[in-house]
Amino acid sequence: MEFLTLVNYYEQLEATTKRLEMRDILIQLFKEAELEEIDKIAYLTLGTLYPAYVGIELGVAEKLAIRALKMVTGFDESKIEELLNKIGDLGQVAENILSQKKSQLVLFTQPLSVLDVYNKLDKVAKMSGEGAIENKVKTLAGLLAQAQPKEAKYIIRLLTGKMRLGVADMTIIDAVSMLFGGTKEAREVFERAYNISSDIGIVVREAKKSGIDGARSIKLSIGRPARPMLAERLSDSKEILEKLGGRGLAEYKYDGERLQIHKNDSDIIIFSRRQENITHQFPDVVERCRSRLRARKAIVECEAVAVEPDTGDMLPFQELMHRRRKYDVEKAAQLYPVSLFFFDALLINDEELLDRPLLERRSILDEIVDKSEDISLTKAIEVSDPEALDRYMLKAVEDGCEGVIVKDISPRSIYTAGARGWLWIKYKRSYVSKLIDTLDLVVIGAFYGKGKRSGKFGTVLVAAYDKSMDMFRSICKVGTGFKDEDFDKLTEMLKQLAVPHKPPRVDSTMVPDVWVMPQLVLEIVGDEITLSPVHTAGFGKIAKDAGLAIRFPRFTGRYRFDKAPEDATTIDEVIEMYKSQLKVIQPKEEVEPT
Ligand code: AMP
Repeated sequence: MEFLTLVNYYEQLEATTKRLEMRDILIQLFKEAELEEIDKIAYLTLGTLYPAYVGIELGVAEKLAIRALKMVTGFDESKIEELLNKIGDLGQVAENILSQKKSQLVLFTQPLSVLDVYNKLDKVAKMSGEGAIENKVKTLAGLLAQAQPKEAKYIIRLLTGKMRLGVADMTIIDAVSMLFGGTKEAREVFERAYNISSDIGIVVREAKKSGIDGARSIKLSIGRPARPMLAERLSDSKEILEKLGGRGLAEYKYDGERLQIHKNDSDIIIFSRRQENITHQFPDVVERCRSRLRARKAIVECEAVAVEPDTGDMLPFQELMHRRRKYDVEKAAQLYPVSLFFFDALLINDEELLDRPLLERRSILDEIVDKSEDISLTKAIEVSDPEALDRYMLKAVEDGCEGVIVKDISPRSIYTAGARGWLWIKYKRSYVSKLIDTLDLVVIGAFYGKGKRSGKFGTVLVAAYDKSMDMFRSICKVGTGFKDEDFDKLTEMLKQLAVPHKPPRVDSTMVPDVWVMPQLVLEIVGDEITLSPVHTAGFGKIAKDAGLAIRFPRFTGRYRFDKAPEDATTIDEVIEMYKSQLKVIQPKEEVEPT
């Protein structure tokens, strides 16, 4: 496919914010794409070159792209920067200045193909070491010299990590499911293929090759992370047990970082909850898993919890931040040791375990984990009595955990990769002691601050995730709980995500000073969930003309970089919280227990 054809599709995608229209445009695009390029087209459309777990990112600094533009157009760097400040999008600047330039020049170059562009960008992404910057600038300039102005626009946006078409992985899954299947069952097959591979490229390629059978042929594989199974939440032990058919396994919910560990003999790879390869952050865990996981091959999951080196006491999640560094990781590992609590096995040796019931998976896990002080299974008991569950939850909190996750143990209790469902239910103390618990919300806009905060963002507009429609709907403005350094950090981060119009997949009637792409997840706590005529989260679900909002929202200080926007608190959860807080307020619930 010519790159210009792809660019025309991108222009169509950019012109709509409607999900169904986007899907139809993508269907046409995938119809037209050839087998050898379709995976690359999928990655480019998402603004990347590879699935996240590969860890190769474009993200070229704007400064460098400006130098390449200067080489091709002869425009001064300061002039380009001035235009950038005015227009706010270097891609658009590139298009404008190249069209001025090219009207003077008649170029007889070959049209660029998608593969030409992909391969050049790939080369740039992989350049490192001495002279890499110069080489990048030269390669880019070469590519831009061959590009039509509007091709240059997207090349620059791809390069600087600002593609922003509003297409999400699930929009692509929708399109391939329609194109190669068309039924609800087909959609499940494609979704599962994606959830166990975390690789949209493989899914579209196999689908193009052999339709739904191609998607079925994709298997869980070592080196390729599965998307994690997620939990729902409820605030009442009786209700939890009812949902689970009367009985469940209550496991401590540790406050750490989820690790998906892949072992192939002595090779260990560690993936984060968002499928990034974070092996380098945990050299101690790598060593421990080499010697303590007694299986040749394994894909297992655990929570890594920071512990006090002297006492072994569990520490809060924030302590793990010390590991997010490039250098001196060994030292950080010594200063901030972790304990591992394993809770699931997805594959052992050559056997995929996803469809086995939980207790079977757990007993296999129990056999292969060679336990000691810093490596064990999650603490758990089987419960069928709500009071026993309450007692166990309080014990978990006393022991430094957030609460418990109560898990289905019936024969249907499979591992549902990538899905939040009622097979796992979170039960935290805060649900019963306060009106509302923390929520993980996505920033969709920002307002400029005043006084001390002028020139910086002082307040953010946040949204909850509407899973059924794949949208982000506004729920409140948050301006408290931020420290001075947070304002700097937030302003810096949000400027990178700013867009001139309301982003696709965002639903909000409140208009912020600046819209931002829904990417950053913040942990927010509030006093209550109230009905709101302004916010769009859950609009019409509880009352006809109102949505839901959070009263007195505050930032807890916790940036949830480990969560993708689609992992944010869902609107269904907010509705659930709204309903359960009503229950708490009822007088009979307020009677002191005897
Ligand atoms: P949340 O991040 O609040 O949605 O809660 C789900 C997370 O709890 C998982 O992704 C794990 O990181 C963590 N977790 C802690 N203990 C467990 C456990 N026993 N089973 C499953 N997940 C756990």
